[in-house]
Amino acid sequence: MSVIGIVISAFFALVFLVFLDNSKELVWDRVVVGVISALVYGYSFMNIPTKRFFRASSFLFYVFTAQVVISCALNDYEIIHLLALFLTLQAIAISFKTQKATVQYLVTTNLLLFICIIIMPSSERFLGVYVSLSFMIGSGLIFFIVRTKVKFQSSTKLQKELLLALINKTEDSIVVTDFEGVIYEATPQAGKLFDYDYQELEGLDISDFRKHRLTEEEDRIGVSKLLKEKFWNDEIRMKKRDGSEFDAFVSISWIHMFNLEYLVYRIRDISEDNAAKAELIKAKEDAEAAAKAKAEFLATMSHEIRTPMNGVIGMTELLGDTPLNEEQKNFVNTIQISGKNLLTIINDILDFSKAESGKIELEEAPFDLEQTMDEIMDLVAPSANKKNIELKKTINKGVPKSVVGDSTRLKQIVLNLIGNAVKFTHEGSVELAVRKRSSQEGMLNLEFAIIDTGIGIPSEKMDFLFESFSKVDSSTTRKYGGTGLGLAISKKLIELMGGKVMVSSEDGKGSKFTFNVHLDSVQQEIVPENIEVSETEEESLLSTLNVLVAEDNLINQQVIKLLLQKKGVNVTIANNGLEVLNLVNSDLFDLILMDIQMPEMDGLEATERLLTDDQYGSRVPDIIAMTANAMDQDRRNCEQAGMKGFISKPINVEELKTVLLKAARHKN
Ligand code: ADP
Repeated sequence: MSVIGIVISAFFALVFLVFLDNSKELVWDRVVVGVISALVYGYSFMNIPTKRFFRASSFLFYVFTAQVVISCALNDYEIIHLLALFLTLQAIAISFKTQKATVQYLVTTNLLLFICIIIMPSSERFLGVYVSLSFMIGSGLIFFIVRTKVKFQSSTKLQKELLLALINKTEDSIVVTDFEGVIYEATPQAGKLFDYDYQELEGLDISDFRKHRLTEEEDRIGVSKLLKEKFWNDEIRMKKRDGSEFDAFVSISWIHMFNLEYLVYRIRDISEDNAAKAELIKAKEDAEAAAKAKAEFLATMSHEIRTPMNGVIGMTELLGDTPLNEEQKNFVNTIQISGKNLLTIINDILDFSKAESGKIELEEAPFDLEQTMDEIMDLVAPSANKKNIELKKTINKGVPKSVVGDSTRLKQIVLNLIGNAVKFTHEGSVELAVRKRSSQEGMLNLEFAIIDTGIGIPSEKMDFLFESFSKVDSSTTRKYGGTGLGLAISKKLIELMGGKVMVSSEDGKGSKFTFNVHLDSVQQEIVPENIEVSETEEESLLSTLNVLVAEDNLINQQVIKLLLQKKGVNVTIANNGLEVLNLVNSDLFDLILMDIQMPEMDGLEATERLLTDDQYGSRVPDIIAMTANAMDQDRRNCEQAGMKGFISKPINVEELKTVLLKAARHKN
């Protein structure tokens, strides 16, 4: 292309210079000038980087320029004509499309000018120098103008393209409407969203794409919000060309531009998001339902197992007090131990499942720390004595006597650790040490250490020690018993109390379990309630008691009746809540032991009736729950109903005695 360009332009230049001269004679200096100009044209032509049409027009433009310049020079025009001509030509340069083309054109015309001045037969050479200088300055100016123009054009073009690219790249569909909702402009995405060619959307009413048209009231509210905040967004149901619907998130902005007002809609199809959200919600609900079902199952199982266990343990207790020979006593003893072990397992499983579902709630009550530790030592003492193991307890000076926290759970942790220590030690000692780590603003950080000289734990097993159902080796089950849940539950309880548990051990030499918990310090020392009474005093106190027992299970009726009668208590049995109400009206009782789950009227409702209905008034004594529902929530329900205490089944005889003595003291 470039060669053809050079040849064509050189041809035209030569024709004008050499042959179209008036004299029609071949003049060599003209030939030289012709060739130079031809080369310049060709070079310019070659470098115009535009389309064919532009190339053709530029080519003609160059030819025209050459023709005018040369004829001007040859016909001996005044230099002032040349000036006018060049200014015109240079002004034309501004119209060139690219900066490069402009520069090429300017260079060409300037070169031609010099050639013209040189070959002019005129004597005004001196003036010619001034003119050429002016041209050069003019060219510089024009170049500057063109440069600015090109820069401006390219920057606005870039901005426009950027904006367009941005709009086209956003996933949202953008629709511009007037205030009436008539579509004025829409992006290709909007077309795709509604199943239209996007240009087809122009002129349609955006409201037609809503599933429900706005009521006048909604329209009024929307418009007033837009007027006030210039912005509105919501989730709405929209429809496509074929009527199929989808959820859309629409935000509308109000734009005021060039004295016109537009609404810019940004529309996003959120059907998939909503479906995913719905799925998540459903999965969460399913998981919650499963967790609830599990918790309910456990509560039911616990209740169902505890009820017959009450019969087993209660009757064994009663059986133990009858005249028995040595062998029979041994049998009864074994049944009692097995019953208690079974109960521990049930409690562990229940605790573990509560801990897993985060359902353990800690109580906050003041208690005597030293007394609690003593109780634990008393509990493990028999097994330690049997094995000839020394039991030691050290409580450092800084540890306060009374603290506030959940004594039952703390006891459970320490008892589990110290129970294990005794279980896994064959000779030597087991020590419990308590010390104060720190205290700050009424908050105590206490550390408990349980140190034994037992079988120890191999280092590779330490990591799994606190996992549920873990045992150092399975033979321990056979040899020592246990569910493998104790440490897992203890760890959860310790964490609930804001502490951590750590273990160090040497295989064959012994173990040390250390944990810390946060407890509140107590302002006032607790004065322990003195419930120690002599047996004869106890007998005389209890024989005055008239107790009403609400219980629907026949075996358990028998168990509680016998347990109470054995203590000299006068017992009346009610089979359900309704019978309780009637009996309270007809007799005066000192205490009601109330089962919760009963037919016709349950224990909670009966309690509420007794406490709220005026007809019972002062006839109502303290009501104590006596139930196989052993969950924290059950306890709370009983408290809320107005009950004064809670005995869980299987009945612990000591616990029952404490409740009875309290009622008897209250009476006398
Ligand atoms: P378990 O009810 O079986 O005792 P734990 O969770 O309390 O369950 O203990 C898990 C296992 O950790 C035990 O079976 C035993 O192998 C090991 N273990 C716990 N405490 C000690 C200890 N003081 N000495 C040696 N081994 C221990």
